[in-house]
Order: sequence, then C-alpha cells, then structure tokens
Amino acid sequence: MNADQDLFERARKVIPGGVSSPVRAFGSVGGAPVFVSRASGPYIVGADGVEYVDLVCSWGPALLGHAHPEVVEAVRGAAGRGLSFGAPTEAEVELAEAIRSRVPAAELVRFVSTGTEATMTAVRLARGATGRDIIVKFAGCYHGHSDALLAAAGSGVATQGLPGSAGVTAAAAADTIVVGYNDPTALDAVFERMGDRIAAVITEAAPANMGVVPPSAGFNALIRELTARHGALMILDEVLTGFRVGPAGWLGLEGGYRPDLITFGKVVGGGMPLAALGGRADLLGMLAPLGPVYQAGTLSGNPLATAAGLATLRLADDAVYEHVNRRSAELQSAVGEALSRAGVPHVVQNAGNLFSVFFRAEPVRTYDDAKDQDTAAFARFFHSMLDSGIALPPSAFEAWFLSAAHDDRAMARITDALPQAARAAADS
Ligand SMILES: *Cc1c(COP(=O)(O)O)cnc(C)c1O
Repeated sequence: MNADQDLFERARKVIPGGVSSPVRAFGSVGGAPVFVSRASGPYIVGADGVEYVDLVCSWGPALLGHAHPEVVEAVRGAAGRGLSFGAPTEAEVELAEAIRSRVPAAELVRFVSTGTEATMTAVRLARGATGRDIIVKFAGCYHGHSDALLAAAGSGVATQGLPGSAGVTAAAAADTIVVGYNDPTALDAVFERMGDRIAAVITEAAPANMGVVPPSAGFNALIRELTARHGALMILDEVLTGFRVGPAGWLGLEGGYRPDLITFGKVVGGGMPLAALGGRADLLGMLAPLGPVYQAGTLSGNPLATAAGLATLRLADDAVYEHVNRRSAELQSAVGEALSRAGVPHVVQNAGNLFSVFFRAEPVRTYDDAKDQDTAAFARFFHSMLDSGIALPPSAFEAWFLSAAHDDRAMARITDALPQAARAAADS
C-alpha cells in the first residue's frame, strides 16, 4: 500500500468517508485520493512525495497557481499582525473597493467565509426584500449546501423541489422550484403560473458544476427580464466564475444585463475561506445592522483571508487572464484531438477559460444531457492520467482548472499523458 492509501484508511476511521468534502473521496472514479502534502505553482505533491500537474486548482481559487510567493507573503504579514479580531479592518474596505471597481453591480459587499453562506444570505435577503417565499433554481446548478438550495428536480421540466439530501425538510424544498437549465419556455411558464410569489431566480452565471454548460444566447438576459417584470430578484452566482473567467467574471464577459445580487467565492479568497455577497445598495442596505435581514459571522472578513484575496486580485491582471485563456484553449484542443484519435465519443464545452469534457457524442445543454454520458470511460481516463502524474478533477461532472502558473513544462506533461489515457477510455 502506498502512503495515500494508508492515510485514506486512517482518515476513514476518524472522518466520514475520510474527507472534509464529498467529491474529494474519489467516489465516482474509485481508488484512494491523493493526500496533498504541499503544492507549488501548477503542481501538487502527494503523501508519497509524488508530484502531479494539478488541474483542480483547489476547485478554482488557485488562479495564480499554488503558493504564489506574493500571496503567501501577504498572508504571512497579516498573520504576524493577528489572526482574527472580531472588528472591522482596512483590508476589508480595500477588498470591497477592489470588487466594486471590477464589478460595478456590486455596489455594496458583505463578506462571509464560504460560497454556501453567500448564496444562503442572498436567498434570505431576496425573501426579506420581496416578502415572497419562492426561489427558482435550475437543475444541475450548484449553489452550496444550504437547505433551500439543495432541492432536486422532480420529473418534468419545472417542478416543485424535492429534498436533494436527507435532512432537508419537504417544506424547505417546497419553496424551491426547479426548472430545466437553458429552457426559456419552462421559465416563462413558471412566471406565468406563480410570478407574484417568486422572490428570486438564482443561477450560476455560467454553470460549471454539472460539467461546463454555458447559458444559451440570451438566457441570462431573459432571467433578468422576467424577474424584473414580475417584481422578483435575479441572483447571479459567480462563486466559481467570478474573477476566474475574466477580471469581472462571467458578467464582465457577457454583459448586457445587471443582476440584483451577485455571489462571489473561490478566487476572491485567494485560497483562504472567504466569499462575498454583492449587489444593489438598497438591497444590501436591508442587512443587519442597517436593516431587518439578519446575517453575521465571527470569522467573516478574516484578516488572513482578506489579505490573500486582495493580493490575488491585485496580481490577477490582463496578462494572467490571457495566459489562462490561452492554456485553456490549448488543452481543450489537445484533449479533443487525443480522444478523437482513440475513437472515444466526447464533447469539449467551455465558458470562457472554464471547460470540461463530456464522454458522449452530442452537446450538453441541460443536466439530463450531462448525466447521459459514459462515466466509466471517464474513470478509466482519469486513472490513466493520474498514473502519468496528472491530477484531473475526480468526477466527470466538474470543470478542469488551469492557472497562470501552468507553463510549457506542465502543459507538455499533460499533453504527453493524453494519448494513453484516451486509449484507456476507449477500452471497456
Ligand atoms: C463552490 C460553489 C458554491 C459553494 O461554495 P463553498 O465555498 O463550497 O460553500 C456555490 N456556488 C457555486 C457556483 C460554486 O461553484
């Protein structure tokens, strides 16, 4: 047994499934996860000292690569000045200003520690502001693990949510309506039927948690139009896309509409636990202490986290996004070519520099499409890549993440590993 397997055995005796978040357990690809001992640039190192090129990048935050010296220095400096105060700091003001200068629709910003808290707060605020109960979400969009947003779609295109997890009450799920993604007709029908009861529609700016499924042209603008017409709010969840697909996230790339509330996470914390809710000043002004919607957090706006976020945003200039975009385009074509050569049915889909590979022949526009793929072929592909020293996201339903640190050497290692992995995917 290798050191990762040893640690996994040990971990499972003290931690459910051996992990602190489910996808890390390799449940859908099998085997023991890599227990990371350290990371630098585009590389992670497992418990045995084996180095892997990392295409997870902490699920997004490591836009600059791991342990960027200037980010680490900023965190070290902050740590020396105190770990947590439970009082406001100048760095929070600077980070809020940096967010607003990139995303003007974030007129005011409230910091929290996780993306889950950001979306949960957005939902509470939308309900508090509108006096309505119903939240509309899309099948396949992930917004963290709060009760209201863990509703799963029933059958049909637009249904009352069913609890998406044990422990979510039927009542909590019943106020969530789940609509098929990229389905304007179904969304229209929901507003026709109950438009005056809908507090908000929440959507991933460009969904990347069912694999990457970009919004069809005009879909986000339609959400904006329908919500505005019916007095509901639009919550744009940019926890994953924000500051990753471009300097102003997906909104900056797509433009043409203005959401009421926007959630950020992942890159905005630079690898530390930090997320944020931004949006219209009149709405954010309804949060405590100014208004009646309660929200709080002992570690919110933590000084180490704000230091990492600020350093990351300061370093994430146009050159960083150009680099990540170019590496992403290179890798998308290299993967596509290797799979085509091996005769493996696949589609590579992207939303800016975010992309994923579906092991099926036809494009994916909905969650049902995404589920209809050959996940066993992905598992074979994944393990061949891992054996060659490339760490892909351990699920066929995740985006692949690159960073500004993915240089020629790292890219060559990935492309060298692809042909064998593609042949593994082909052999059932
Ligand atoms: C990761 C993610 C979340 C949840 O963020 P956590 O920090 O994991 O709680 C919410 N929405 C989207 C779109 C995400 O990708």
